[in-house]
Amino acid sequence: MTIVKERIFSGVQSTGNLHLGNYLGAIVKFVELQKQYECLYCVVDLHAITVPQNPIALRANTREIAAAFIACGIDPKKNIVFNQSQVAEHAELAWVLNCVARIGWLNRMTQFKDKAGKDRENASVGLLDYPVLMAADILIYRATHVPVGDDQKQHLELARDIAQKFNNDFSESIARNGFGEAFFPLPEPLISGPATRVMSLRDGSKKMSKSDASDYSRINLSDDHDQIAQKIRKAKTDPDALPSEEKGLEGRPEADNLVGIFAALSGRAKSDVLGEFGGSNFSTFKNALVDLAVAKLSPITAEMRRIKQDESYIDTVLREGSERAQALARVNMNAVKDIVGFLR
Ligand code: ATP
Ligand code: MG
Repeated sequence: MTIVKERIFSGVQSTGNLHLGNYLGAIVKFVELQKQYECLYCVVDLHAITVPQNPIALRANTREIAAAFIACGIDPKKNIVFNQSQVAEHAELAWVLNCVARIGWLNRMTQFKDKAGKDRENASVGLLDYPVLMAADILIYRATHVPVGDDQKQHLELARDIAQKFNNDFSESIARNGFGEAFFPLPEPLISGPATRVMSLRDGSKKMSKSDASDYSRINLSDDHDQIAQKIRKAKTDPDALPSEEKGLEGRPEADNLVGIFAALSGRAKSDVLGEFGGSNFSTFKNALVDLAVAKLSPITAEMRRIKQDESYIDTVLREGSERAQALARVNMNAVKDIVGFLR
């Protein structure tokens, strides 16, 4: 193997406001990982258009996600922060990987089934192909580790299968071109951190999502005190008091989710939170959760607002990040061209 360097890649779609799930499931880890590794953090706008987007809103959302990255503590000097559409190699490698991946693999993806809904024939080809582009996002940098929320586990497994099949299909050419036994590393998912799967505030069986039609289903990083308070107070619960032990959360997905959010935001274990609130009714618990969420999120929200006002700063960060990303991507894309047999 010629690949030794550890490199982190992860992306967030510019499909709307960042929410608590994105923050606790992904961005908190991004911030942590930058201390030790070379990291690329990407606003994946090519993924965003797999469902219809308003062009004006798309551009604003791309800037918004970049501002949120920086407000949460990602240093754009130390890391490469960029938007996907400025580095054409993502789409270029995706085409090659489309010819490696199998249709049967894509048909098994649960995100496609969820997002396409009942009318699958009418979904965009891009929505089905999403995981192949995601594999290209990671593999174009020969990244080794990918911090993601639990919902992306299946796509990461697919990215490993694609990398493995490319390495097998082209093994002779890979060796002939001086890359040893394998060109792509098999990227490892990093699914850990305070909360790997935050659920919707309206339905404890659905994950919190940017693209959920109801804004009451999520807490956005841009929400102010009143919005956070309203959303938490309106969050779905059941009529019983909170249990004193974790076992009592079984079969109560909404209660489990709110306790999980409290635990993640306060850095405590769920059992510890229940030790304090066991026996309380939801209105008492929700008031405490509002105070906690506002205290944790308001500094980020304020910083995001400040950064967002300076569009030219954000655009410069993304342009410079894209240039740095492209310098890495081009080298690997040229290698792929040699391996596959494209004349250049
Ligand atoms: P969309 O609904 O448009 O797919 P999303 O909310 O799922 O948006 P993504 O941009 O697809 O957000 O995902 C960005 C990152 O946030 C990924 O690593 C994903 O796994 C993580 N993530 C998304 N939703 C949650 C959640 N509810 N809990 C924990 N992590 C999440
Ligand atoms: Mg998603």
